[in-house]
Amino acid sequence: MRDPAVLVASRPSQTKIVATVGPACQSEEKLAELIEAGVDVFRLNTAHGDEAQHQARLDAIRRVSRALGRPVAVLVDLAGPKMRLGELPDGQLQLERGQTVRFVRGRPRSPGDLSTTYEPLVDELVPGNRVMLADGTVSLVVEEVGRDGARCRVVQGGVVRSRQGVNLPGAKLSAAALGEADWRFAAWAARHEVDFLGLSFVRAPTEVRELKAFLTGQGACAQVVAKIEKPEALEQLDEIVDAADAIMVARGDLGVEIDIARVAVVQKDIIALCARRHKPVIIATQMLDSMQHARIPTRAEVTDVANAILDGADACMLSGETAIGEYPREAVEMMHRIALATESVYRHQPPAAGPDFSTAAVHEIAEAVVHSAARLAAELRAKMVVVASASGTTARVLSKNRTFVPTVGVSQSEATLRRMCLYWGVIPLPGAPAQDGAALLRFVTERGVASGALAPGDRIVLVAGTGLAVTAHNMIVVHEVA
Ligand code: PEP
Repeated sequence: MRDPAVLVASRPSQTKIVATVGPACQSEEKLAELIEAGVDVFRLNTAHGDEAQHQARLDAIRRVSRALGRPVAVLVDLAGPKMRLGELPDGQLQLERGQTVRFVRGRPRSPGDLSTTYEPLVDELVPGNRVMLADGTVSLVVEEVGRDGARCRVVQGGVVRSRQGVNLPGAKLSAAALGEADWRFAAWAARHEVDFLGLSFVRAPTEVRELKAFLTGQGACAQVVAKIEKPEALEQLDEIVDAADAIMVARGDLGVEIDIARVAVVQKDIIALCARRHKPVIIATQMLDSMQHARIPTRAEVTDVANAILDGADACMLSGETAIGEYPREAVEMMHRIALATESVYRHQPPAAGPDFSTAAVHEIAEAVVHSAARLAAELRAKMVVVASASGTTARVLSKNRTFVPTVGVSQSEATLRRMCLYWGVIPLPGAPAQDGAALLRFVTERGVASGALAPGDRIVLVAGTGLAVTAHNMIVVHEVA
């Protein structure tokens, strides 16, 4: 078993890496390669594949994680109300600017008819609505809605293909946040102790709370990642961030649902809000897109990843790069290298926004103690911070304080250790006696000295709960290695 204390010496990046699993990386050998290259969280995207396929991938991830002795978290991404085009007669259709097409109920009847996977669409469209196809490269405007369907004019032409996504920026649709297939996948994820569930196209905090209540009802401790990709979500962002356990800036659909020119500033605002509310934030989509077919990313992609980290992103995500790309390992290695290069600069600039002490999400004693522990570690030039956390909350809050001191997370709960995989800068350490402070310090010191990460005279800051108050983490110990 690989000793995570060694990892402190061999420098994992503090920024966490989320990698989407697909045909290009689903074998145990490839998954192991990706973990070795720096993956912390694997994402299973339910928009593709059935339960059996995801079960096989989940089993493989768990086996590899056990064999390597490395906690790895799993994020099951629920597709949600993603609307898609139905089948097109030749699989694709060329649309010319100015041409008229029609969305119809049921099956298309004449050339130029389009169907979708969302049955009530025709009843909910109104003249003036914009319809975006093919990732926003083709756009239509609704001119008239009648008994036969909704007539649209092509504003920007191009080729559309069967099953491609359909976006209606600004239109208020009645589609439920989760469809039948999503609920089935959510129940499956709950049964299999998956760590995070992604909720796509979130529009309101109630949708997040509904999924959380379902998971609690199933006895699952899975956490909910709200994917921000709709303008409605931006209108209630504060409430959604408060309701969710983590946030994903889902730039793929976001860039179609809002003006693509605003994606960068919206991303910055979401990262800053998540810093204040102590919520991990994942930046997703096209981070190293060109690496699907090239060993080296573009300069712009490298800069995009680095800027996300400098803004305070907790994790960066790879999608097609690892799922279907030709260079999945190289993409993870590149993400890791960019993170290391960027973090060495980031440590010299203070985080853009500090935590917001007014938030009710974290007990104020825990908040203040964790904040002080981070300052102590910096002032005393500690070589390591150890955070003992039952639910992971203390580790999450500490992570948002950006200590830049190697931080080890311990817990008696395996689920909490896996959850820490998403927390910036926290290295989960399995097998530590998390509930006994003296034994824990001995354990960490012995491992640290053996791996070369610690030497006599080095200081360790331990943050832990005393057990005197249920929600308050109110103990800091500063230990000098003898
Ligand atoms: C996105 O839209 O950026 C995203 C991550 O969601 P999905 O991959 O489910 O489209």
